[in-house]
Amino acid sequence: MDLPINTVLRPASLAEALKLLAERPGARPIAGGTDLVVQLRDGRRHADVLVDLAKVGLAGIRDSERGLVIGAGTSMDAIAAHPGVRSRFPALAAAAARVGAWPIQCRATLGGNLGNASPAADTVPALLVAGAAVTIASARGQRQLPLEELFAGPGRTHLKPNELIVSVLLPSVRLGQGRRLVERFVKVGPRQEQIISVVCMAGRAIVAADGRIELVRLAFGSVAPTPVRARATERLLERKVLDGSLRHEALAVVQEDVKPIDDVRAPASYRRLAVATLLDRFLAEVARG
Ligand SMILES: Cc1cc2nc3c(=O)[nH]c(=O)nc-3n(C[C@H](O)[C@H](O)[C@H](O)COP(=O)(O)OP(=O)(O)OC[C@H]3O[C@@H](n4cnc5c(N)ncnc54)[C@H](O)[C@@H]3O)c2cc1C
Repeated sequence: MDLPINTVLRPASLAEALKLLAERPGARPIAGGTDLVVQLRDGRRHADVLVDLAKVGLAGIRDSERGLVIGAGTSMDAIAAHPGVRSRFPALAAAAARVGAWPIQCRATLGGNLGNASPAADTVPALLVAGAAVTIASARGQRQLPLEELFAGPGRTHLKPNELIVSVLLPSVRLGQGRRLVERFVKVGPRQEQIISVVCMAGRAIVAADGRIELVRLAFGSVAPTPVRARATERLLERKVLDGSLRHEALAVVQEDVKPIDDVRAPASYRRLAVATLLDRFLAEVARG
């Protein structure tokens, strides 16, 4: 396949990659290439020079004092299979396992899913409910940003052209006595695999022994120009015991909260129904006890 690129640079360290990006304005990083190669071929993105991140050591998952740190170069397959992600951040493990199908999951990276900034990026709602923060580096140093502040619109981030996402921090959850954590990711589309979400949702709730919802976070993808939190719905549910009337009210509020859009994949009316249905299923899990 011919791609409109002049040069592919293959740095052997993060420092070298950052130096190359600083020296060559217009150079673009490439990780698994599952988004970028298609976009270059179709003329939707342009880059004369690609900086290949394969050998710069951004893959891997480790524990830190603040939580689990996932390197930007970690594949979806590795995330979905990791015991710590599966047990502590099950929504993310489920989301990674729903990106494309297994061959794509073996190449697609977390950094690429974020860097591509699709409103339908499946990992983002799961990361939002986990309260994730991204570590960003340039040749001048590092900074950390709440994930919610990364996205500027469809296909656009607030990254500067010479910056890279290095890793994503998932803060540890401290569950008090008798509390339980409910976390889910669900995706709606016409097939099980190899499908861009028509709507996807991640939910996290911490429920006390008396049934009170102490914390709830709800995030939706593919409903707006960027993935979104349903904050008014969260406020409605928090510090309350879920009963039939609260559940009913939440299903109405979430549709106004998220205000789904029309696009080629589905009309807004379908998305409103899907958003309410996904929330209803999540609240059924929360109520199950
Ligand atoms: C058949 C198919 C099915 C797919 N299905 C899904 C799906 O179901 N759900 C879903 O969410 N996505 C899906 N995708 C999209 C894609 O696989 C994911 O978004 C993937 O995570 C991209 O990762 P990558 O490593 O391939 O990124 P690349 O294509 O290498 O890069 C994507 C973008 O991110 C930038 N980038 C890469 N790494 C970094 C970094 N460390 N720092 C800053 N910027 C960076 C690149 O410059 C580029 O702009 C699918 C793609 C294909 C081809």
